[in-house]
Amino acid sequence: MVVQTFTAKDYKTAVHNTWCPGCGDFAILNALQAALAEVQVPPHKVAVVSGIGCSGKAPHYVNAYGLHTLHGRAVPVATGVKLANPELTVLAVGGDGDGYGIGAGYFVNAGRRNVDFTYLVFDNEVYGLTKGQGAPTMIKGLRTKGMAEPAIQDNINPLALAISSGYTFVARGYALQPKSLAQLIGQAVRHRGTAFVDILQTCPVYNDLHTKEWFGEQIGGHPRLFQLDDTDYDPMVHDPTNLEEVVAKKVQAIAKSYEWGDRIPLGVFYKIDVPTFEDQLALGDRPPERRNIWNRDLSALENSFR
Ligand code: SF4
Repeated sequence: MVVQTFTAKDYKTAVHNTWCPGCGDFAILNALQAALAEVQVPPHKVAVVSGIGCSGKAPHYVNAYGLHTLHGRAVPVATGVKLANPELTVLAVGGDGDGYGIGAGYFVNAGRRNVDFTYLVFDNEVYGLTKGQGAPTMIKGLRTKGMAEPAIQDNINPLALAISSGYTFVARGYALQPKSLAQLIGQAVRHRGTAFVDILQTCPVYNDLHTKEWFGEQIGGHPRLFQLDDTDYDPMVHDPTNLEEVVAKKVQAIAKSYEWGDRIPLGVFYKIDVPTFEDQLALGDRPPERRNIWNRDLSALENSFR
């Protein structure tokens, strides 16, 4: 039997890409395609769902099923896609404004459910598609060239929010470290449950503060960006899977997520393996006809739309 092997090229499309030259989104797209090739999931078994924003265009550039939905709605649509067809590998993608602003309610409640899909947030701290207004991850007091005045609201910490909301895989990556980002996305896709990766993304057009040069700086002889398992960063290597005391580990992971500035850790902050939402549908005291939604006769519902 011939085993078909997929390469990153198999997940690319010929659609003209309209991202600005030098945008960090290109690197994230390449890492996503490399990760799918590493996992070896056939393109016809992948669905990529986005909201609105520069990163919302990503499904056009991935050879897979794709839905470009409404602002903030990538997560609920991805949830529906996965529940409708659990055979698919589902990814929700979008920006920080999309996911943590208008989509914040969906973001929090997805953590409570633990449906088996991956959520990648392209986090550039600005609303790039609408000329660079500060997004929810913009730090209070900072002002990029796209902002009329400095931000006067506190920023949110997406990793802390994800951990406290119940996400079972929480990680941070950096767009311009393609190999480690592809590896991180691969781990997220393999995880059973909702996996969340906040990806630091450069926007050379509107974010002139957190640039490729800023992320790449050496501070006191050390790189600004560290991997969590780098003993040069922390001799007490952070183990996201050592969860004997779940609450204590959540607190430790949240504390790590607040390290920002001269040292910014990357990698998996938190991971736990527990039953997914789909597993729970098939468990418990539910009557048999309500245990597996995929075996239910939906013809009456379908007919109502005909
Ligand atoms: Fe990328 Fe920024 Fe251009 Fe949007 S505005 S495509 S995020 S560089």
